[in-house]
Amino acid sequence: MLKIGCHLSASKGFTHMIEEAISIDANVFQFFTRNPRGGKAKEINKVDVEKFLEIKKNVNFGPILAHAPYTLNACSADERTRNFAHEVMADDLRRMNLVPGNMYNFHPGSHVGQGIDKGIELICQTLNDILKPEHQTKVLLETMAGKGSEVGSTFEELKRIIDGVQLNEKIGVCLDTCHVFDAGYDIVNNLDEVLDEFDKVIGLDRLCAIHLNDTKNPFESHKDRHEKIGEGSLGLDAISKIINNERLKHLPYYLETPNEISGYRDEIALIRSVAN
Ligand code: FE
Ligand code: FE
Ligand code: ZN
Repeated sequence: MLKIGCHLSASKGFTHMIEEAISIDANVFQFFTRNPRGGKAKEINKVDVEKFLEIKKNVNFGPILAHAPYTLNACSADERTRNFAHEVMADDLRRMNLVPGNMYNFHPGSHVGQGIDKGIELICQTLNDILKPEHQTKVLLETMAGKGSEVGSTFEELKRIIDGVQLNEKIGVCLDTCHVFDAGYDIVNNLDEVLDEFDKVIGLDRLCAIHLNDTKNPFESHKDRHEKIGEGSLGLDAISKIINNERLKHLPYYLETPNEISGYRDEIALIRSVAN
């Protein structure tokens, strides 16, 4: 069965999130590890996690996806900003180690004029500092739209980050359908060629998750504005081909569309209705 869910609020804990997910027919979910703008994180509540794992084991549930605050910038030109990204990510990985069966997604960052080489070097430095052999969590680099000086809008840049990380068996990729289309990968007309390219450059075995979003903007716009499924430039037909693709259909899908919970329920039903 297709693994699909959406982004949920983590404010009431893991048990609440899985109950909410089940109530909208989701079998995965994503959440922010702390305030998306980077505030202090709540400590993991062991009772809550045990209850969550108990529920998870009794239903057919896929991996949960923790998302780092999107304001972090591990390749900032400002040392304090880099140190902050470093501290937050190290602390997130420590806490996520207490919640088995998860992955951790982050935006590689923006090089802010230092150039792509320096950006990649700084991202690798952060990952080499914070990744520890005892971490169970797979860390995912998100494919970016290429807004401003964002790093990670081409498969080559992501591959260079992976190659620069010592413990890179812990690194995977999360493909965001809005971002890759905005970045210039035509997943509407040439999905198979894009997947061939991903496989050639990075290797499809690194692809661990999909952020399933439509986009408000045309191809190659480098904008990053998510749209509801079927209401943007991708359209339902292209999205249906993605979730049914032989090379992609086993992956977990996370919606990050502009919706409240009832809208997500409808979108999950829509996507399940077109899944083979
Ligand atoms: Fe993201
Ligand atoms: Fe995303
Ligand atoms: Zn986005």
